Amino acid sequence: MRITHVESIRVPLPAADPAFNWRRGLLGSSPDGEAAVLRIGTDDGATGVALATRPGMAAAVEDIVNRVLREQLTGEDPLQREYLWHRMWEIDRTEELPLPVLGLVDIALWDLAGRITSQPVWQLLGGFRTRIPAYASTVTFATIEEFLDVATQCLELGYQAVKLHAWGDARADAELARRLREHVGPDIPLMYDGSAGFDLPDAIYLGKALAASGFLWYEEPMREFNVTAYGRLARAVEIPLLVAETSDGAHMNSADFISAGAATFGVRTSASTRGGITGSMRTAHLADAFRLRAEVLGDEVASRHLSMAIPNTTFYESLITSNVVRKKPEIDSEGFVHAPTDPGIALPAGLDYPRVLQPYVDTGS
Ligand SMILES: [Mg+2]
Repeated sequence: MRITHVESIRVPLPAADPAFNWRRGLLGSSPDGEAAVLRIGTDDGATGVALATRPGMAAAVEDIVNRVLREQLTGEDPLQREYLWHRMWEIDRTEELPLPVLGLVDIALWDLAGRITSQPVWQLLGGFRTRIPAYASTVTFATIEEFLDVATQCLELGYQAVKLHAWGDARADAELARRLREHVGPDIPLMYDGSAGFDLPDAIYLGKALAASGFLWYEEPMREFNVTAYGRLARAVEIPLLVAETSDGAHMNSADFISAGAATFGVRTSASTRGGITGSMRTAHLADAFRLRAEVLGDEVASRHLSMAIPNTTFYESLITSNVVRKKPEIDSEGFVHAPTDPGIALPAGLDYPRVLQPYVDTGS
């Protein structure tokens, strides 16, 4: 089997409704835009697809496909995923690809492998479980009272844990954490995600407060460029750190955070941030060797597959973007997400399947 087609298809990506905010300083939800579907086709009619939804990806994927990937991938065996994964790192050396683009070919090749063997990718990877509890991962709401109201709704809908994306103000966020613990009682797992909003002194202050409120993990409090700073934070606070979410370099970079003693809870992993499915699994296995967790990031479809295949992960992240809270359709009434059943990875419902997956027709031209 050989790769014969590589193309980028633009699909509409509607704005979040309602729009939402992240912490101060960060851009909020995007307006109406476009996503990119990378589609790889073969000489025997097999197809694999991968979706990139970050702003600007439609143009970025189209550019790299037309300039580099079509020529580099055509004629290759699509089942040689390891070889093609290493090819992407070589291409990255000169192109400096955005993180979601680096893993896109790998995701499409895993999707293709699943489709031709009629198996969901989590099974191809070696399944570990068929359901996992979801946590409600909030966006940034306006007041403590609103956060408490949202948390109540999430728990009533079945979510088993709550993670805050708060304001990025160490003192205000510490008070929110204290009030939320008081509100939900001692038994609900609570987590905090700093989205890299702090310097070291504020990260230490907040880390101590989160430990006092019994939080399970403290995620990405600082930008992840300086591993030494993370090592210092880890030594200064009791709360376990979950790190290496947005840093470049997949498992190679995660290894440095672990080696510095900074990943005291574990590391982040996902197909869109750690170099596709292949990079995500490498990262998870690396953490496993150190008896650490590899917590799967984001509620994209690939994350559902990864969370069924990675033993050392605890939860599935389900983003809560509105008050009134709407439970995502993939979460059941007890707060679990279940293993996907469609072959491959599959695209989110609502995309134009017939157009994206229409067989390639050899026109002889
Ligand atoms: Mg995060």
